[in-house]
Amino acid sequence: ATLPLQAANESVATTQSHSQQNAIESRIQSLLAQMSVQEKIGQLALRDWGTFKAEDMKDIKQAIREGRVGGFLNVNFSSVDNNAFEELQRLAVEESPRGIPLLFGQDVIHGYETIFPIPLGQAASWNPELIRNGARIAAQEASADGIRWTFAPMIDISRDPRWGRIAETLGEDPLLTSILGVAMVEGFQTDNLSDPTSLAACGKHFAGYGAAEGGRDYNSAYIPERLLRDIYLPPFKAGIDAGMQSIMSTYSSLNDVPGTGSPFLFKQILRDEWGFDGFVVSDWNAVMEMIPHGYARDAKHAAALAANAGIDMEMHTDTYEQFLARLMDEGEFTEAQLDTAVANILRVKLRLGLWENPYPRAKTPAEREQIIRNDQFLNAAKEAAKETFVLLKNDKQLLPLKKGQTVALIGPLADAPHEQMGTWVYNGNKEHSRTLLPALRAMVGDKGKILYAAGLEYSRDTSTRGFKAAIKAAKKADVVLFVGGEEAILSGEGHSRGDIRLPGAQAQLLAELAKTGKPLAMVLMAGRPLQLDQTLEQADAVMMAWHPGTMAGPALAEVLYGETSPSGRLPLSWPVGAGQIPIYYNHLPTGRPATDDNYTRIEKIGREVFQHQPGNSSNLLDYGHKPLFPFGYGLTYSEFHYSELELSDSTLDADGQLHVSATITNTGKRTATETVQLYVRDLVGSVSRPVRELKGFERITLAPGESRRVSFTLKANQLAFHNAQMQQVIEPGEFHVWIAPDAESGLQGSFTLQ
Ligand code: BGC
Repeated sequence: ATLPLQAANESVATTQSHSQQNAIESRIQSLLAQMSVQEKIGQLALRDWGTFKAEDMKDIKQAIREGRVGGFLNVNFSSVDNNAFEELQRLAVEESPRGIPLLFGQDVIHGYETIFPIPLGQAASWNPELIRNGARIAAQEASADGIRWTFAPMIDISRDPRWGRIAETLGEDPLLTSILGVAMVEGFQTDNLSDPTSLAACGKHFAGYGAAEGGRDYNSAYIPERLLRDIYLPPFKAGIDAGMQSIMSTYSSLNDVPGTGSPFLFKQILRDEWGFDGFVVSDWNAVMEMIPHGYARDAKHAAALAANAGIDMEMHTDTYEQFLARLMDEGEFTEAQLDTAVANILRVKLRLGLWENPYPRAKTPAEREQIIRNDQFLNAAKEAAKETFVLLKNDKQLLPLKKGQTVALIGPLADAPHEQMGTWVYNGNKEHSRTLLPALRAMVGDKGKILYAAGLEYSRDTSTRGFKAAIKAAKKADVVLFVGGEEAILSGEGHSRGDIRLPGAQAQLLAELAKTGKPLAMVLMAGRPLQLDQTLEQADAVMMAWHPGTMAGPALAEVLYGETSPSGRLPLSWPVGAGQIPIYYNHLPTGRPATDDNYTRIEKIGREVFQHQPGNSSNLLDYGHKPLFPFGYGLTYSEFHYSELELSDSTLDADGQLHVSATITNTGKRTATETVQLYVRDLVGSVSRPVRELKGFERITLAPGESRRVSFTLKANQLAFHNAQMQQVIEPGEFHVWIAPDAESGLQGSFTLQ
């Protein structure tokens, strides 16, 4: 098995030959030579169609004719004129001075009409192929409507499940996020951006948005530069090396400077250090928000700050249109800078082949029908969802369910077509969602019985009105299947929570159900890990399903009944409680290392709060020092045994590599998939080094009794980090290495880097 990041880093995308690149550059130059300053500034304008009113229409169409608009977002979300792509584009192509096509962007985050699991769920698959495929399908659907640019992937690292947008991230780890983010870019863009089914990807939000203080959205982030470079920036670098065409600025301030006004981020790092040649877009309204940030005096100042920081395109607001020409007259911005920004945008438009294919791909409703939500796409969404479910607990092998059983299906999310789609589903329509209730009925057929009583109408419902019927159903059943968690609106942008327990009266209902003594399996749908408290003891089995999307029902039914064994693994550490946040596996050691909790967390959480001996360690007295479930964790219906760790050498040269291998055996009774993980620890460094860092992983599927030797190549340059002088260095010394099923266990070896 090779290490994917290596591949990502080395495969600098060469989507175009040199001669094509030269042709594009000379086309840019000739366009620039013909364009007026007003037309150039027009290319920097990304207007939100969704915010216009009928009375704006005349003006906006005139602006397109005059070359004063470069693109739109949200064209199919207007009260005025949905799906106006074709007409707007015709104005740009046929009537504007240079005929430069508009670029249409949208948040195509986890599917377009065929909704895939939320990104955090997709990350739990640890499967780049699945993510690539999902993005490919989303691109095929969105491009049918004329969209050629998506505001994804979101590759912000977050260590804070209170933050609502953690649902949109790929988890807490820089390597996992890099690999999966690159896969998403590849799925959207293909290796040929001029393919009319491709979307230009946009890595967001540069940078540090996921570190918003206290999980409060849009808040300040404080990230020391070393940490920024080791943890938060690598996914962006990997995306750019893979050819990602655009970058979005963050709303938040980073170390006291709003991201959207930061030359350090956009000039120094993105352009000078990384040589990015695509374009940068501000987040929605983010240029103007530098005023309430207390960084810009007024709109003109905001325009000057953003333009000089290297924000090429302004989303939604129009400070560039209003002030850039004046700023140029006053010497605050130059035409050479303007030309650079325009060139960055035109380069991507040309690469997309917008001149050749300016219009929506589907020419007729019938053509659209063939593309959107076709059976193949729906099936892919189902198969993807199946790989995202993480089995957290399965006492007495309650799961998989048996078809002859009578199941009491209870809970607010068992039949909630909208909620199962999660955040960011502009085009997702609940009419197309398939929920668990009918899927379970179809699964058991006439062999078993499904007794459905929701108990609560929605996740935040506090009324106990429905409890009686639910308890009655439970008493009649062989097993209780509770499907709860969070409604879609409880995660996503601007939807952070301070209390991450099960909302509403769900815990109360679970406690009542537990009293029936019936075996209890719980499926959680949520945009974040939840604080489980006593609930964890009351349920015999717990499966985290995130928000699985359109095909949640059939996907869950197949995994619950064991047609497929669960294979998802946590892409982040699952906290015991919100008070433990931030908690992440790749933390630094302390001077008084935390001691192991001397109890099985799963058994005792919530029951014996404060049972720790107050001691001298960095434990929390009530929560301990470990998360409830570690990064990388996930059970299945079988069991795997790790043995025979072997290193090809006990030393490693600074330019060398070594092989680390182990034997993995399926010791259970079912075919299942294991995600084998490679971790290292640098024992002593010129700065303190994390207790573990993920360096590779491989998914293997083994039949009962089958063994496989899994071998990772570890190159010395994968051990590099930024030292106090911000140089990327490899320091000689002792290392530990693990091949492991999660970030807390595994077989340990060691080697010396010389
Ligand atoms: C979000 C971005 C999104 C943009 C456009 C903003 O509020 O932060 O992630 O792409 O809106 O919808």
